[in-house]
Amino acid sequence: ILAANHHDPRQLLQILRQAQERAGHLPTALLERIASALTLPLAQVLATASFYSLLRTGPAPAYDILFADNITDRMQGGPALAAALCRALELAPGLPAGNGRVRVGTTSCTGLCDQGPALLVNQRPLTRMSAERVVPMADLIRRGVAVDDWPAEWFRIEPNLRRRDALLGAGLAPGEALAAALARSPGGLLAEIEASRLRGRGGAGYPTAAKWRACRAAPGEAHYVVCNADEGEPGTFKDRVLLSDFPQLVIDGMGIAAHAVGAHRGFIYLRGEYRHLLDPLEALLAERRRQGLLGTDILGRGFDFDIEIHLGAGAYVCGEESALLESLEGRPGRPRIRPPFPVSRGYRGQPTTVNNVETLALAGLVAIHGGEVFRAIGTAQSSGTKLLSVSGDVERPGIYEYPFGVTVAEVLADCGARATQAVQIAGAAGHCLAPAEFGRRIAFEDVPTGGSFMVFDERRDLFDVAHAFVDFFAHESCGFCTPCRVGTAVNRRLMDKIAAGRGVPADVAELAAMDRLLRSASHCGLGSTATLALTDIVDKFRPAFSRRLRTEDFVPAFDLDAALAPARQATGRDDRQAHFHPDPTPLPDE
Ligand code: SF4
Repeated sequence: ILAANHHDPRQLLQILRQAQERAGHLPTALLERIASALTLPLAQVLATASFYSLLRTGPAPAYDILFADNITDRMQGGPALAAALCRALELAPGLPAGNGRVRVGTTSCTGLCDQGPALLVNQRPLTRMSAERVVPMADLIRRGVAVDDWPAEWFRIEPNLRRRDALLGAGLAPGEALAAALARSPGGLLAEIEASRLRGRGGAGYPTAAKWRACRAAPGEAHYVVCNADEGEPGTFKDRVLLSDFPQLVIDGMGIAAHAVGAHRGFIYLRGEYRHLLDPLEALLAERRRQGLLGTDILGRGFDFDIEIHLGAGAYVCGEESALLESLEGRPGRPRIRPPFPVSRGYRGQPTTVNNVETLALAGLVAIHGGEVFRAIGTAQSSGTKLLSVSGDVERPGIYEYPFGVTVAEVLADCGARATQAVQIAGAAGHCLAPAEFGRRIAFEDVPTGGSFMVFDERRDLFDVAHAFVDFFAHESCGFCTPCRVGTAVNRRLMDKIAAGRGVPADVAELAAMDRLLRSASHCGLGSTATLALTDIVDKFRPAFSRRLRTEDFVPAFDLDAALAPARQATGRDDRQAHFHPDPTPLPDE
């Protein structure tokens, strides 16, 4: 493994992933060997190994089963199925059992919201879990049957393509878009991208031409292209489908970006939960090298460009481009201080363009048809089409491609939503729309989204939705800056308190104070967007909160008497002084 990774310390995350795949987990002795071979301090290796949720430094159970804890998986019955599996196996949730052979726990999101409840079994995605599968699965585990020998249909992943438009319906041949781009000079290509007004599809909508121009103009020994396939936003799975069913469009797009910025090397940063896509993508890259579509002298045009795939290891924050670059260099994925921005100092301190999977695929349409044709699709400020990942309370979850400008109501009608109470746009980090807003348009100038479109009908309790998002951010905060580390933890405690029936109006006011703090003082986008959905739900769906609140001014976050009960029983004292506001009845010695 070390030799295959050229003993390069920047490959540390890949080395750890590969070592874990071979050894099952990463014991200290193995980490010491890796540190010594790479001449890295052990502390640095430990810091990386302990940062990522899919890396295991402790002993690995033979069956490590992680149910997706996304709100849509919860709605599809994931928690009840996890509990049923635990009962069938006679084990406690989250704890290794059967001499450490089995563990049933949770993971944030698997990118399979359209075919949940989903879970990872030894990091292999299993879709459409059902009550009928609980007993057979427990039986397979009890008999020690290898996961590779479990029923294949349990692991089937559907693309669920529901609506194609300019991109998914283009029917482009491998290399077709790249050839069209290479027929233009880099300057001519950039001019077309500028004319197209293509904007980044990850959610922020930064103009692609401006990013590529800045990268090309930045001085450096080498320039790099990075495809951000760390699709961790709950409710988003469009990149999974692009990479599984349309990977040629993405790889062509990376070549187009490389031609524009002057790069010869690129990376696909693939989220750890998409491990199942790694081998097919590696095979495809090898095939393209054989076809002269990757490597040296591509298409006989003297253009050299090749791609490596880096696998993430379970950290939502790595979707932020500077955190992704840290991860790509083998460190914990903590966002960098910016400026400098990656376009001038990115991978290895060199000019780097980091683009979303969908943005790169769309660049191929511009290369083929030209900027003006692309710009004619969509709205004035949002040209082209947008892929939506539709999940939740709909008849037909899956991928829908629309020209920008489609209304929320049109999407709801197409996917078979009924009695819709709310639509969560752009994942946990986005806004929650009420029915009065369903006439709004999906577009940067109205409702921007990276692609997540989660639907909640009237049966759903939106407090539970907000609670799930708060849990998510508390879990995914990287802990680097205090407002986010503490603010997301405080929010979780407040929501747990309200859920337990101990909430008061002051707690909702405290949530609003945390919202202001997180938006204004967080170091990166994770913290500054962590309360958008929560605040929307508090504001627009107030009864979901108010019906849970008591009317008192203050109720402590925990039950002091319950916490003291064991000590009181042991000492035989009632210890009433423990309360700030004791019972007015005088104590015996007063
Ligand atoms: Fe990390 Fe949160 Fe701070 Fe971002 S805002 S750097 S995720 S602690």
